[in-house]
Amino acid sequence: CFITETPQHALNMASNSDKNIKKGEMRDLEGIPIAMKDLFCTKNVKTTAASKILENFVPFYESTVSQQLWESGSVMLGKSNLDEFAMGSANTTSFFGNVKNPIKGKNNSDLVPGGSSGGSAAAVAAGLCLAATGSDTGGSIRQPASFCGIVGMKPTYGRCSRFGMVAFASSLDQAGTLTRDVDDSAIMLEKMCGYDKKDSTSSKREVPKFSEYHKLSLNGKKIGIPKEYLVDGLNPEIKKCWENVSEEFKKIGVEIVDISLPHTKYSLPTYYIIAPAEASANLARYDGVRFGYRDEKAKTIDELYEISRSEGFGAEVKRRIMIGTYVLSAGYYDAYYIKALKVRRLILNDFIKAFETCDLILTPTTPNVSFLIGEKQDDPLEMYLNDVLTVPASLAGLPAISVPAGNNRDELPFGLQIISSHFNESLVFKAAKFIEDLKK
Ligand code: GLN
Repeated sequence: CFITETPQHALNMASNSDKNIKKGEMRDLEGIPIAMKDLFCTKNVKTTAASKILENFVPFYESTVSQQLWESGSVMLGKSNLDEFAMGSANTTSFFGNVKNPIKGKNNSDLVPGGSSGGSAAAVAAGLCLAATGSDTGGSIRQPASFCGIVGMKPTYGRCSRFGMVAFASSLDQAGTLTRDVDDSAIMLEKMCGYDKKDSTSSKREVPKFSEYHKLSLNGKKIGIPKEYLVDGLNPEIKKCWENVSEEFKKIGVEIVDISLPHTKYSLPTYYIIAPAEASANLARYDGVRFGYRDEKAKTIDELYEISRSEGFGAEVKRRIMIGTYVLSAGYYDAYYIKALKVRRLILNDFIKAFETCDLILTPTTPNVSFLIGEKQDDPLEMYLNDVLTVPASLAGLPAISVPAGNNRDELPFGLQIISSHFNESLVFKAAKFIEDLKK
């Protein structure tokens, strides 16, 4: 689960917490042991993004999100594993090796924890920490949460500062939480959000006390069921659970309404143009000169770039850089990149329209449960299909949570996803808590 363990930090922070507790000056997360996804820069602690190119990178500054968590009293156990540069859905692209899901498959087989925040999700599910940070660009918090049977929350784009988060796709990247339950998620998220002058896309909106979501009522609220999320290959057990949970909502006075998000089918191709395009620009900075891995054999500057990048990046990251530079290149820019931006707007418009008739949207998080390590490895498209139900909310910048809702016949967990309009996280928590309580 961990790329770097930080026991000395943990002990120092914990003894500081002990002092505060003795003095009766407890902060909200005093002494809470957490894992920090190794995508958040931590001052003087190695931050690798699970890439060889950053294998020995030690930042000299702290990300805003991690800073806020430390200031709230939480204790860092270490930096958790992820897919390289957060590109992946199974945690198998990490330079440091894949993470195993603590939940075993048939005959004790090893399953993927999902990705890219797989180390964080597995650590929480295994009880190695109380909570963990994640980042979600197209589903990287929600999908691993679903596969590991825990809660994963991605807030509205702009709620958390991206300062000090290793950039993948800047118009999509958003920090969030992986926790054992909904309450923990609300308490933790509250501490991570807020305007930061170091990130011009962070929101100036006031951050409500998410932990007080209990005060809201679902009575009379409307929950939309988008027919387009009934995708080919949706596991029938997940489908059944989705229907059952809708029925349960009706019993507490929620109105279930059918809605349509007609551009959903374009979400995946749109995402896999925009995210690689932004990634190819963001990853240009790893040139072997300024920081990160540098090839020592190179004789010319061109060779230095070429060899450092060829040796430093893994196959999936290279694939994204190539797709990204292709869709941004002269001659293809309008046909791919600009077109994708236009479709992205249509996807957002679908949601805006839907939220005129409902307050929340309920969907499955993933079409299926976790799979064997190594499966889908040779077929990137098959891997990308994991994201089909999480990517639309990312493209629209909407808050979305995955909450454990059931298990399949092999006892493998899966989540349901709740999406709201922008900045409506508290209502998302309220509905998620209702689903969580159904299992009790
Ligand atoms: N699985 C998606 C991808 O590979 C999403 C990753 C993420 O959200 N960081 O791009």
